[in-house]
Amino acid sequence: MSKLYFRYGTMGSSKTARLVMDAYEYTERGEYPLPIKPVTDTRSKQGVIESRTGLSTPCLDVQKDYRIYDHVEYLIRQGIDLACVLVDEAQFLTYSQVLQLRLIVDNLNVPVMCYGLKTDFQGKLFEGSRGLFELANRFEEVKTMCRVKGCKHKAMFNVRYKNGKPTFEGDSVKVGDTKEEEDKEYYVVKCSAHFLQDYQEYEREKKSEIK
Ligand SMILES: [Zn+2]
Repeated sequence: MSKLYFRYGTMGSSKTARLVMDAYEYTERGEYPLPIKPVTDTRSKQGVIESRTGLSTPCLDVQKDYRIYDHVEYLIRQGIDLACVLVDEAQFLTYSQVLQLRLIVDNLNVPVMCYGLKTDFQGKLFEGSRGLFELANRFEEVKTMCRVKGCKHKAMFNVRYKNGKPTFEGDSVKVGDTKEEEDKEYYVVKCSAHFLQDYQEYEREKKSEIK
């Protein structure tokens, strides 16, 4: 029986590197994986999944209205023995696409492995992640440490920085980097205690600005 897997974690937890390694291993065995990636912006490179470590694999880019199920069914009808579907940035899938992945597993008997973020910079589930927590069979947390110096806890949240300070307002699908660059928004992954500390500080500052 095939399964729908969700491997989730914060940014910088090497999820993409794992996906690329998975794809590589299937290919080495002479099998055919289908790596896919939801398209969220025009900035990221098209047709390729690239990890920070430099490893990459070609992929199928899918827009929000793209029928992943139809694509996989078509490949199978062409006689392709698909080993699995690998999804990067699975948090950006629509609920309907997650449902299609579930049907790929159940009707077409192809395993699907999704890698993605659990929550956005406000600590809320993404649409795709919510769907996966509802519909997947297997879950694995890809762990990484809180990046606050000296902290020994597991990172749970992606804190967005703007002008060098944590921010909790804005668009949740903004794709960013964990690289610190001046004038640019970036993310720092933190444990729950440090995330809440940042949030409280942000709220305090906002209140004092209003006064
Ligand atoms: Zn911490």
